[in-house]
Amino acid sequence: TAQIVLASRPKGLPVTDNFRMEQVDLPQINDGEILLKGLYYSVDPYMRGRMNDAKSYAPPFEIDQPIYGGVIGKVVESKSELHQPGDVVVGNFPWRRDFIVNEKEARKIDASLAPASYYLGILGMTGLTAYFGLMHIGKPKAGETVVVSGAAGAVGAVVGQIAKIQGCHVVGIAGSEEKVQLLITEFGFDKAINYNTTHDITKAIADACPNGVDVYFDNVGGEISDAVINNINFYARIPLCGQIALYNTTEIPVGPRLQPMLLTRSVLMQGFIIGQFQAQFQEGIEHLAKWVKEGKLKAHETIEHGFENLPKALLGLFKGNNTGKMLVEA
Ligand code: NDP
Repeated sequence: TAQIVLASRPKGLPVTDNFRMEQVDLPQINDGEILLKGLYYSVDPYMRGRMNDAKSYAPPFEIDQPIYGGVIGKVVESKSELHQPGDVVVGNFPWRRDFIVNEKEARKIDASLAPASYYLGILGMTGLTAYFGLMHIGKPKAGETVVVSGAAGAVGAVVGQIAKIQGCHVVGIAGSEEKVQLLITEFGFDKAINYNTTHDITKAIADACPNGVDVYFDNVGGEISDAVINNINFYARIPLCGQIALYNTTEIPVGPRLQPMLLTRSVLMQGFIIGQFQAQFQEGIEHLAKWVKEGKLKAHETIEHGFENLPKALLGLFKGNNTGKMLVEA
């Protein structure tokens, strides 16, 4: 079968040459194991961090070893009581077209409830990140103003839609005209700002948020966040979800001194990693699935085709090639 390995560690922005596709033989399948065929592969910004040789909450990928990530697979052969051929499962699996895993590493999904791919997005890691970051840290109240950066992406589009469900004034920041249109027409945001064509983002936020910003869901960091924080309200909450604007920098730039805004306005800023909410995932999935079923929450995906295009899809996240959840269908 084919696999994609990390060939070298990137400096700055990764390139496709940092990956290599190669053929490997599959071993025999043992008791307690299942043979899977990959259907959908998730590409996520956090994978960039794992390409570095640096300790973080997820260990680094190893050179010449397959990349691992969220994958939906179909059971082809089973030596497990837990999984039957034909079952569809999700797990953290290698970038291989076919692969053998221990039965306990795979979680069965109900593909009749929602399309299988949703379990990598809106009903999976990114949907849960939006739900817990916004509801448990951002704690929006009806009538408040919620700003989200990376707004047209997998997490951001869900954050904005949940904030609308909560009765908030919702403003999104994204990187193209097409995306800001989508935020308003498809996802129901009240206002959207294109950071690539807006000269003064601080002023654009002030105009879009006449009552200031009560919750800032930060997916990107850098200058966009500086501009939002310039408009932050007393007792605002800032769920610190991602800093994609900084993932490819070799030196972290110094932002404005935050003391006048965060300190004097009693702002709460809290970083989080979605895994910390694991014990409550069921609560999150139930809310998300209910809203999807009621048509209040739209699942939006960008699906690239072909296993061999996984590196290209991953790199595309840093160029803004996706709207909603970026996936590869093998
Ligand atoms: P997205 O679907 O949002 O894809 C990434 C998007 O980021 C791109 O489409 C692009 O949109 C934007 N982007 C890329 N480079 C930059 C840049 N330099 N400045 C500003 N925006 C940029 O990814 P996810 O929804 O999966 O993730 C969003 C964020 O949430 C990431 O930072 C990720 O690391 C984080 N995250 C954190 C988790 C946690 O547990 N804390 C879990 C999951 C995700 P555009 O065209 O608008 O620039």
